[in-house]
Amino acid sequence: METDSIRSQFPILDQKVYGKPLVYFDNAATTQKPQSVIDTLCRYYQTLNSNIHRGAHYLAGEATEEYEQTRRAVQQFINARHSHEIVFTRGTTESINLVAASFGQRFLNEGDEVVVSAMEHHSNIVPWQLACERQGARLQVIPFDDEGVLDLEALRGLLNEKTRIVAVNHVSNTLGTVNPIRQIVDIAHSHGIPVLVDGAQAISHFAVDVQELGCDFYCFSGHKMYGPMGVGVMYGREELLEQMPPYQGGGEMIKDVTFERTTYNELPFKFEAGTPAVGDVLGLHSAIRFMQQTGVDNIARHEKELTDYATERLLQIEDLRIYGRAKEKTSVISFLVGNAHPYDVGTLLDKLGIAVRTGHHCTQPIMDRYGIPGTVRASFAVYNTREEVDTLISAIERIAPMLA
Ligand code: PLP
Repeated sequence: METDSIRSQFPILDQKVYGKPLVYFDNAATTQKPQSVIDTLCRYYQTLNSNIHRGAHYLAGEATEEYEQTRRAVQQFINARHSHEIVFTRGTTESINLVAASFGQRFLNEGDEVVVSAMEHHSNIVPWQLACERQGARLQVIPFDDEGVLDLEALRGLLNEKTRIVAVNHVSNTLGTVNPIRQIVDIAHSHGIPVLVDGAQAISHFAVDVQELGCDFYCFSGHKMYGPMGVGVMYGREELLEQMPPYQGGGEMIKDVTFERTTYNELPFKFEAGTPAVGDVLGLHSAIRFMQQTGVDNIARHEKELTDYATERLLQIEDLRIYGRAKEKTSVISFLVGNAHPYDVGTLLDKLGIAVRTGHHCTQPIMDRYGIPGTVRASFAVYNTREEVDTLISAIERIAPMLA
């Protein structure tokens, strides 16, 4: 894979900040967008903008066709059985809220239990807390060890006849751990319990096959996979989606409305109330094309090499500690140096042109588990290079003594 030709597709990378070449290592927060995605957004608003599914005119027909083509592209990308199992949302957060609210209303009752893990993003904790509060259910938590590996024995011990769903991330945005979803699904399904997977940090890094994983729901965001902000996906198994009530009411999700009674549209439209982000959905299609043309396996290989290299070099720095040392890991490295506050490290790196994230990364329970206020997080994408890692290492070596 030729990194130069990939980088040249991302205009934002070719700039200086504070007079230094930009090194963008905040990809777990959001990836940059290739020109093809930017062009799609422009083309949509220049030539195609129209409200979909309703108009009897040319533009509406074309926009609808491209919107539905994207649904089929997503279906193929994650190997869902049906295109109507793909629901467009605003992002992972909305996808999980949709499931927690709708599944919760249908299946959660007083005294029931929902199992999440201790390494979830707040987006896969709070919606379940809200659902539990509404229904009188309880949250149970799978712990993880010092290396950042989930305790599957503990999971087995947590499941019982009151458990209604298990919700875990595929990849931790703080630790980088790739969780053994197939195994988790097998454990949960042996009790007849469905599994929701938060795939926000997995989808851009390796191939995802929802049928092979066997999960019941899979949620992700377009903006973390080279696509636009404002669009995400909720995949759900047809049998469950059919039984779940609408999440929001409004236009497009209905069949018939009278003041006495409303009947709902079929899947997936039952879950897509109101005007969607059509341009962003089309942009997501371009992002999928970008990933397929680059090769998802090439992306995975490149990122693994970079992560291994960065890990090795970081660990050579005196008193640098990495949080998240699972064997199965993606390109996220969380660390602390000496007793320097992560925010100070991040601020100084920024002045050297290096964008990292600092803080709790919306995973406060992970910080509590380790007894730390936060970490510095460097996360890589397909366009990052070894030279950029070298720049990061030199920068840390330079600033660490200043913060000691
Ligand atoms: N889940 C994980 C693991 C994440 O890393 C993130 C974002 O960082 C989210 C959920 C929320 O994604 P979004 O803000 O795109 O809805």
